[in-house]
Amino acid sequence: MRQAGLAADAGGTEAGMAAQQGSSGRRRGAFDAFDLALRRGTLAGTVDVAKMERAVDRLAPGGGASDVSWRIAGTTDAMGRPALEIRLDGSVPLECQRCLQPFPWPVAQCTTLLLARDERELAVLDAEDDEHEVLLANAPQDAMTLIEDEVLLVLPFAPRCERVACAGAPLVAHDPAAPRASAFAALAGLKNVAAKKAKH
Ligand SMILES: [Zn+2]
Repeated sequence: MRQAGLAADAGGTEAGMAAQQGSSGRRRGAFDAFDLALRRGTLAGTVDVAKMERAVDRLAPGGGASDVSWRIAGTTDAMGRPALEIRLDGSVPLECQRCLQPFPWPVAQCTTLLLARDERELAVLDAEDDEHEVLLANAPQDAMTLIEDEVLLVLPFAPRCERVACAGAPLVAHDPAAPRASAFAALAGLKNVAAKKAKH
């Protein structure tokens, strides 16, 4: 089950989106997913993931280029149900969780999202189809929100680089006492910051 934009709406992007709404009330870049599926239309472009409000937090800062080309194509699944095929192709810098160095992570993903007209259909499709994700498409979809959701889904939570030196090195968290200590230290640091902020 996928409801695009939930996280974005909770953040600061909604005001910006609202400001972009024209007299028709549609967002700039918004499209009708069912219409796209019916006419087998295609939307495509290139996006810098470092400029995506939610995904940027997952990148290694200053790690290099983070351009990803994307394509949203209207299609149907094998049973003829309307769907969107989302393709991502590019590379983003991630921080290796073993050696803490940035490295380029290849992004190459193709996902098919079945389209649901309402909550009821969303529940039905979700229950009967294990193979595909289902997108609630009862309102215009924002291409950039869909792409950012997809980017967030493909990025690994504990990326590891493939440098020979890194593979041979001991894990950063090898000492069972170390990660615990550092996690607590980090927490303590956060608390200090919070306390300082509270005083101002
Ligand atoms: Zn590494």
